[in-house]
Amino acid sequence: ARLESLDQPVPAVQVCVRLRPLLPWERSEGYGPSAMNLIQGDKEGNDSSISLKEDGRTRHFRFNAVISPDCTQQEAWDMSGIEAVVNKVALGFHATVFAYGQTGTGKTHTMEGYLYEHHNGSAAPSISAARPRVKARSTPPEQLGMVPRAVMALFDRVEAIRAKEALGANACVVRVSFLQIYNEKVFDLLNPSLSVSQREAGGRGEDFSGLRMRWDALKRHFFVENLFQNECNSADEALQYYQAGIANKHVASTAMNVASSRSHTVLVLTLLRREGMPGDDGTPEPFREVVSQLSLVDLAGSERTVSTVASTSGKSSTRFQEAVNVNQSLFVLRRVITALSKKDSKGNDASGHVPYRESKLTSLLQNSLGGSSYLIMFACLAATDRHDDENLSTLQYASQAA
Ligand code: ADP
Ligand code: MG
Repeated sequence: ARLESLDQPVPAVQVCVRLRPLLPWERSEGYGPSAMNLIQGDKEGNDSSISLKEDGRTRHFRFNAVISPDCTQQEAWDMSGIEAVVNKVALGFHATVFAYGQTGTGKTHTMEGYLYEHHNGSAAPSISAARPRVKARSTPPEQLGMVPRAVMALFDRVEAIRAKEALGANACVVRVSFLQIYNEKVFDLLNPSLSVSQREAGGRGEDFSGLRMRWDALKRHFFVENLFQNECNSADEALQYYQAGIANKHVASTAMNVASSRSHTVLVLTLLRREGMPGDDGTPEPFREVVSQLSLVDLAGSERTVSTVASTSGKSSTRFQEAVNVNQSLFVLRRVITALSKKDSKGNDASGHVPYRESKLTSLLQNSLGGSSYLIMFACLAATDRHDDENLSTLQYASQAA
């Protein structure tokens, strides 16, 4: 990629709807296609929209892109505009990409991609070492989800920056961390010793308190204490961590009985650029460090289960607490996004207070969800009739942000 071409105007908030097809088992159980009606955007960049019948009247929702059930991962990548956002990260801006939707609508498919799903249900892999020695699987490239594509694109840009500015590798550093938020507790997916203690505590039926989140008064953002941050020299290396973290997620889920549908998974790529390194003639120049972050989030399922769980399992049950916490953090996330999409042309948020601190997820994402940062939301929908109730609420949530 040519560096000059990276700096294109990009909207602060973009919402894409992605539909997954009817699955073979759904078809064989007699489910049919959804009552949704899609209007695909055209190549000139005109908005896409979806309409859905509700109580006899048809509601229309407009989005930046509508990715239809037959689209490939490559088409999803191209239509979503993530690449331009990754370019912004390379240029020093923060960005967040997340997948929102009911469980089973394709969030993990969109973010991780096909091959990673094979960890599901298969024999639990052993906890990987912090620096995984396993070679990344030979994933058919067309099956890769948005996360591995974003990782590869970012390293591609980093190479371009290094080439152009003739800087040494240490002037442009990428660090990877990978965490899970479950029941308002933070777990490090790249720290095997922690995963083991989580597993043991879970096995003893104990609660694991998770990592602490602290406020950095100087840099004015929250950070997770003791979270592993692994420096990576290549996309391959970063993807090995990603894959090891996914394996750890499945081990921890089984051991602690944490359904991944009730937790958020966040991969954070931090890019550090030291600008003003010694010039060609060797004269030292003023030194400035630019930090930018790309956060890639597979959110907990958005289904509204609180009242159902309360009546079936009781309000003191773990299931109830999980549902309350998921609802609370998705609710705060929506308020944060709504506040952001209403911000004025100077980038000031027009609606006043942004309630970042009211959930772990939004606290963590605070510096990549505000000011001059970029956001892409994938609203995932299953194009089947059995999902239409939840589809409507996802469309409402998503169109508030759009
Ligand atoms: P979620 O993470 O939202 O719970 P998943 O990503 O696990 O949902 O998807 C649920 C099921 O649907 C999986 O079996 C997955 O393979 C399938 N699926 C999701 N999106 C697509 C798609 N675009 N094309 C084909 N199958 C899909
Ligand atoms: Mg999932």
